[in-house]
Order: sequence, then C-alpha cells, then structure tokens
Amino acid sequence: MPPEGRVTRFAPSPTGPLHLGHAYAAFVAAERAGAGRFLLRIEDIDQSRCRAHFEAQIYDDLRWLGLTWAEPVMRQSTRASAYRAALARLAALGVLYPCRCTRADIRAALSAPQENAPQYGPDGLVYPGTCRARSIAKAGPDDALRLNMRQALAHVGALSFTEAGPLHAPGQTIDPDWMIAQVGDVVLSRRDMGTSYHLSVVVDDAAQGITEVTRGDDLFEATFIHLLLQALLELQRPSYYHHRLIRDECGKRLAKRDDARAISQYRKEGATPQDIRLMLGL
Ligand code: GLU
Repeated sequence: MPPEGRVTRFAPSPTGPLHLGHAYAAFVAAERAGAGRFLLRIEDIDQSRCRAHFEAQIYDDLRWLGLTWAEPVMRQSTRASAYRAALARLAALGVLYPCRCTRADIRAALSAPQENAPQYGPDGLVYPGTCRARSIAKAGPDDALRLNMRQALAHVGALSFTEAGPLHAPGQTIDPDWMIAQVGDVVLSRRDMGTSYHLSVVVDDAAQGITEVTRGDDLFEATFIHLLLQALLELQRPSYYHHRLIRDECGKRLAKRDDARAISQYRKEGATPQDIRLMLGL
C-alpha cells in the first residue's frame, strides 16, 4: 500500500490522561499515514471507566502535540448496532455460545483435580469450556457470548497477515493449536457492554477503512484474534505495524495510573511538543 493511500488510526480509551506511551502511539500512527489519512477513534465501550473530561483532554493534548486527524472521530459508544450485527453474523455461523460463568466459577473449574494447570494467554485465563455445549438460541440477558475457538478456526482455515513494523518478521502465520491452547474461547460480548474490545476493534477498523493498524507490541498476540474475526466476518484485512513500548526508568511499561508522565503534567511544567518528541526518541 503506497503511503498516500494509507489509512491509520489512533484509538485511545478515555479512562485516564494520555501519557508518553499514548503520545508515541499517536505519532507513529500519524507518521505511518504519511500523505494518506490519520483517523481518531475513541474506544469508550466500558462506560463504567470512561469519563467525558478524559475524552476532552485527549483532543486537547493531541492538538497541542501538533496532530491533526480527519473528521469525523468515531466513538465506540455510538456503535452498538454495528456490534450487534456482527454478533448476529457470528451466531449464524454457529461459532458463538452463551456463558454465565463468573471469574470465580472459571477459577474453580480450573482448579478441579482433573484439570491441567490454568493457562494464561493474551486474553487472560483460558476458559475451561464449562458452557460450551449451551445453545446460542437459549442466550439470556445475563449471558456473555463466547467464540468457540476450535469451530471458528475450522471455519476459516489458514490465517496469515503482513507485519510492517520493525519488531517481527513481515510474514506472520497463526498456529491454530496455539490459539486453542493459549487463547481459547474468548468473550466477544460482555454482559454489561454487549460487545468486547476484540469485536469492536475489528468491526470499527473495517468501518473506518483502516489499511494499516499501528499499535503497541503488547497487542501483538491480540492481533491473531482480530485476524480470525476478520476472516469470520469477511472483512477487509489491514496490515499491522506493532511498535515498541515506552517504559519508565525501571523498564516498566507506562500505564494510565502513571500520572507523573501524563502529557497534561508535562504541559503544566512548561514542556514543549518538541521536548515530548525528544523524550520519545523521535
Ligand atoms: N484502545 C486501546 C488502548 O488504548 C488500543 C486498541 C488498538 O489500538 O487496537 O490501548
């Protein structure tokens, strides 16, 4: 894809102030767009954690950093019908089932003597499959919806993607056995939200016509899940560019709670956007 046709996005969640790691992700996305289009998406499906003032601060900080994006901004809180439609398609393929297990239920099932040691993958604890035989037709309002990983993989066949970033080989193939063992039956619709991070990202990257997804390397393995969902939903497949993570002096990845590294804090202390770029090694 020539850079002039490239469409990239920055997709922050307004659950805290933007910090240096977000600034880096935004700069990378904008730079990779080059003469193409750089878009913004507010990932606010978790309304219990999102705040309007954080969203307002995101726009303000990005403008201050010198970034401009093509309108309109997509806000995931307005996209419920698109997520419902995607879930209906997956249900029709027979790869979803309802699940009522709490985290405590899952832990208890995994600690049963006949189980192997619990596996942690990119999506947390690998679900032991307690509800797998339940029919989607019997899903109730208190159910989450899970993807039957084995059936989903069988449905799509071999999966591969193009990595454009500097950290991984360009040709990536996805190992189905690894997906079953290490990822398992991921939740695609949380009972409190009617969607999940994985489903929303895939549906919205397609809706925004993203041709290259740029994001931190902590999401590299989540990309495998996204590839599978794109194949099931027959969506256009972007290429991926995973970038390095910005860490503190102790080598720890920056998180939202690291308010000391919030862009707004640096602004208050008189830093310039150029200072921020230098701190990020740009
Ligand atoms: N909303 C995610 C975050 O703030 C980014 C998701 C993505 O880039 O796919 O970490």
